[in-house]
Amino acid sequence: MADTLPREALFEPEPSLESGAAKRRLHHLIDASGLLAELTAIAPRLAVERELLRVHDPAYVERIRAESADRGGDAGGSSPFGRWTFEIAALAAGGCVAAVDAVLDGRVRNAYALVRPPGHHAGPAGGCGYCVFSNAAIAALHLRDQRGVDRVAILDWDVHHGNGTQATFWRDPSVLTISLHQEDLFPPGSGTVAETGAGPGAGATLNVPLPAGSGRAAYLAALERVALPALERFRPDFLVVASGLDASMNDPLGRMNLTSECFGLMTALAMEAAGALCGGRLVLCHEGGYSSAYVPYCGLAIVERLAGVATGVVDPWLTDERRVRALPLRTHEAAAIDRAAANVARIG
Ligand SMILES: [Zn+2]
Repeated sequence: MADTLPREALFEPEPSLESGAAKRRLHHLIDASGLLAELTAIAPRLAVERELLRVHDPAYVERIRAESADRGGDAGGSSPFGRWTFEIAALAAGGCVAAVDAVLDGRVRNAYALVRPPGHHAGPAGGCGYCVFSNAAIAALHLRDQRGVDRVAILDWDVHHGNGTQATFWRDPSVLTISLHQEDLFPPGSGTVAETGAGPGAGATLNVPLPAGSGRAAYLAALERVALPALERFRPDFLVVASGLDASMNDPLGRMNLTSECFGLMTALAMEAAGALCGGRLVLCHEGGYSSAYVPYCGLAIVERLAGVATGVVDPWLTDERRVRALPLRTHEAAAIDRAAANVARIG
């Protein structure tokens, strides 16, 4: 927390917001709802060095390995870590790889990789924002380089910009990256609509920075007017979603207004796109999400959609009509989405 609050402010320190609690509670709710018993478990495995090196510089991987075996360190940009982090981060990346393999091999229709630490801020040169290894990017490159999948799209709905994923594929036309995020949140200044890739990858990076306060109408419009047309144009063979749950209305690090119902609707749209374009091949990789009270309900809504099972669990925050009434798309949100939509035509 020393990285998010001035040290002097810590008169009564709280634990780091990036912890296992939200993920454990999501798993517990899926279990308690009865849904877990209907799912197919996919065992994670450690990503091997060759897989990590598809994204990350060798010197960075070696540094994380050495510091993790000692006392820990900082992966870069507010990513303090402790002993044994190398192993758990390699397990997170390998868990995403195992998930895409399971879908590609037809063992499951789709998958949710509930992993930690998150990955989308980590890029070739190093970690950032709690992320150590770039889980979704590593899974995408495994699909392409190891499994012969030509074109992969990564749709990122974490409230923060997927800058590490973007950096990995900045000059790469074979992986389309689309990031929906709160404008100028983290990293500061990153993920503007003008960032669209370079060289052979020009056009294959899309950013949809949304104004703080955006909710259901803005996110659904961003998907319908930008992400889905971009996917149709790109025609991926596999869709990976970097599934941060920190655009929820209860998140302490984001200022967006999504409910669990919205995450379910967004998942349905992703499934529809994957169904139309790539045989339904879809994997969601867990990213951020810092409300340990609300992440479980958002995650359950997603996994219910993926599994096609309604558990009947009631989101206690959706019982107050005034909080969840669907507000119309506002002018400044529509303008931001239109600016991003203008870049879809640049996809080759
Ligand atoms: Zn995030």
